[in-house]
Amino acid sequence: MSHSLSPRLHNAAFAALGLDYVYVPLPVRAEDVGAAVRGLAALGFRGANVTIPHKAAVIPFLDEVSDDARLADAVNTITVEGPVLRGYNTDVEGVRGAIVAAAGDRLAGEPALILGAGGAGRAAALALSRLGCRLTIVNRTPAAAERLAALITAGVPGAHCRWLALSDLTSRDVKGQRIVANATSLGMAGEGKVPALLADNVTAGQVVFDAVYASGPTDFLVAARAAGAIVVDGLTMLLEQAAEAFGLWTGLPAPLEVMRDAVRR
Ligand code: NAP
Repeated sequence: MSHSLSPRLHNAAFAALGLDYVYVPLPVRAEDVGAAVRGLAALGFRGANVTIPHKAAVIPFLDEVSDDARLADAVNTITVEGPVLRGYNTDVEGVRGAIVAAAGDRLAGEPALILGAGGAGRAAALALSRLGCRLTIVNRTPAAAERLAALITAGVPGAHCRWLALSDLTSRDVKGQRIVANATSLGMAGEGKVPALLADNVTAGQVVFDAVYASGPTDFLVAARAAGAIVVDGLTMLLEQAAEAFGLWTGLPAPLEVMRDAVRR
């Protein structure tokens, strides 16, 4: 869905700043990824976003790739400067910006639990470990949680990261956290719910983040707010990652409120 909101929010931001840019959605087939990326400079593009399923496939066609994108094995933003193509993962900044707006950035040593070890889970794990949080990564498929914990431990200096199978999670694990994040697709329409073990055990004062974005608050965030937690929604992450991409393309600070209004409309 982010690809359907991105044209709206970026075009509103370009218009608000009087920039002669336009953001257009362009579907690309898997077999055409290389040709599409290589054509960006020749066609006069300033940059691009990349969505699922091409986030890893574009990497071999780029001249430079940021550390976060390399670690996440996912590029969601490309910049074009002359012939040079650079890849970034602004989802990491999306999570960081959304959490910091709610909780501040003095999170060193704070315990944080992330449910999910896919693309959003990797972004959340990189963002929170770089903020100094002590991470617990929980996933339905334990091997993916184990792989992500190993990647964070090896890739982020000073990181503290353990992992758990979702089936081994206890209410104590949830209650002991400062930050609890859902980085799975649970909570999206038709995808099932965030397990009650999480939703029912968040506590007042915790920061509860849901990467899922919907037209209203997800059931998980409704439960968290009722428990007295500080909630951070997926739309905030989407806006923060878009603002980071906007800055990379234009060199200007993004007009966040304009972008927020554009997606609310
Ligand atoms: P993904 O790479 O496919 O990963 C999906 C994750 O969800 C995996 O950890 C998977 O666990 C878990 N999962 C799926 N169904 C489950 C179930 N029934 N029970 C337990 N776990 C389940 O997807 P993604 O790219 O990370 O996206 C996840 C969510 O984040 C989506 O809703 C997406 O829209 C959202 N997102 C939001 C933003 C934003 O800007 N707000 C950015 C990126 C993604 P297994 O490993 O066991 O399969």
